[in-house]
Amino acid sequence: MAHNDTPPDRIIPIVAQPAGASPTPEAADDVELVSLYQAHKKIYPRSVSGLFSRWRWGLVFLTQIVFYGLPWLEWGQRQAVLFDLGVRRFYIFGLVLYPQDFIYLTGILVISALALFLFTAVAGRQWCGYACPQTVYTEIFLWIENKIEGDRSARMRLDNAPMSLAKFSRKAGKQLAWISVSLWTGFTFVGYFTPIRELAGLFTSFGMGPWETFWVFFYGFATYGNADFMREQVCKYMCPYARFQSAMFDKDTLIVSYDAARGEPRGARSKKADPKVLGLGSCVDCTLCVQVCPTGIDIRKGLQYECISCAACIDVCDTVMDKVGYPRGLIRYSTEHAMSQGWTRSEVIRHMLRPRVLVYLAILSAIVIAMLTSLAMRIPFKVDIVRDRGSLARIVSGGKIENVYRLQLMNASESPQRYKIIVSGLPGLVVASGDTFAVDSTQARWVVVNLQLPYEGATAGSHPFQFEIQSLDSPGKLTEKSVFLVPR
Ligand code: SF4
Ligand code: SF4
Repeated sequence: MAHNDTPPDRIIPIVAQPAGASPTPEAADDVELVSLYQAHKKIYPRSVSGLFSRWRWGLVFLTQIVFYGLPWLEWGQRQAVLFDLGVRRFYIFGLVLYPQDFIYLTGILVISALALFLFTAVAGRQWCGYACPQTVYTEIFLWIENKIEGDRSARMRLDNAPMSLAKFSRKAGKQLAWISVSLWTGFTFVGYFTPIRELAGLFTSFGMGPWETFWVFFYGFATYGNADFMREQVCKYMCPYARFQSAMFDKDTLIVSYDAARGEPRGARSKKADPKVLGLGSCVDCTLCVQVCPTGIDIRKGLQYECISCAACIDVCDTVMDKVGYPRGLIRYSTEHAMSQGWTRSEVIRHMLRPRVLVYLAILSAIVIAMLTSLAMRIPFKVDIVRDRGSLARIVSGGKIENVYRLQLMNASESPQRYKIIVSGLPGLVVASGDTFAVDSTQARWVVVNLQLPYEGATAGSHPFQFEIQSLDSPGKLTEKSVFLVPR
């Protein structure tokens, strides 16, 4: 992949020579200057419309309706999606997850990673160009900027103009709108961890706690910083995905490609002129594809790691081709093989189903099926058992040996449940305290259980046995191992 050539800001001479040797005059002549710092140049992307732009805006709406709307949805008496860290419980619609269900979070992360590998192998950086939060918020911020300051040339003129009341009010209005969006984003993010209706009351009455205040402002600040100051810098220098995505690309991966065979030699011409007579290709060298690029690159130089596959250059180039009366697709989604071998669309699609893609697909499908099956068969309660350290083993009335246990019963269902406790695996062992306990819907409760064994029931030492916990109101039984101590 080629890299952008930007004049170095700070240069460091690098000379290859043996350790300890002094530079020779010949070596000094071979000094190579390498910049370790890339000066930031503000990019003014021109707005664009077209098929892929509509797709991007569709995904901006979809992702943001879900993100901003989900915490306001109710499910019975509670918020539909809430990650309540205080009581260590995650609510996702009808699903109530406890820390013991951490495996599902691991499963979701593995599925997300594999899906990213699969989609990148098939179609390159589609995630970056259409649904990544960095792209989505940059798009929203750019839209606001466009509405308040105007399109590319108006914004450039405004930035170069001396400060005036008109310039100040436009800049202040834009900042106000950006800060409002950022704060709303921070507030929504915290609304996934603190019930959002409560949070709204606290936010408007300035009654939020220190953690909520910190996260609303921190997340808001991160949104503002990434979508305003850093923008393409995040994609170019900070995002690790940009660095390792090339490992998942091959010559059959769909990428945004400039058809150099058709476009070159580029050059301006009159609309009526025949390019063949002028010895020109289809590219009229209008540079619009560079002006719309959010990362400021020229796709005509070939695939570059900065390209986020947003297809803005495809949309604008198609518009230009329409205007000059040439066929569309001078810049298009294609593969390296398709460009070099002139494949048709159906040949490109056929080559997408190659072995590595099928392997990713098989692994991904297997994990998704395993996770869904496990969720469907999940018993809707959990139990934690700890021995009561305050009273290990003791002799009680009737000469019996008693051990005391503390059980945490976690109801992961949406209705109150009664749980019955049975013991097995050690002859004569019985539950001497109450053996049936009620737990409210989605709640957890600690209970104390006393187990007794006749004195002659076992020799001195530690004896394994099982607790069986059965729900009386829904199917499902859990078995947990423990030990009973018999003193000497
Ligand atoms: S938009 Fe199309 S015609 Fe214009 S410079 Fe880019 S590739 Fe050439
Ligand atoms: S080169 Fe085209 S697809 Fe790549 S980032 Fe720029 S506008 Fe988007």
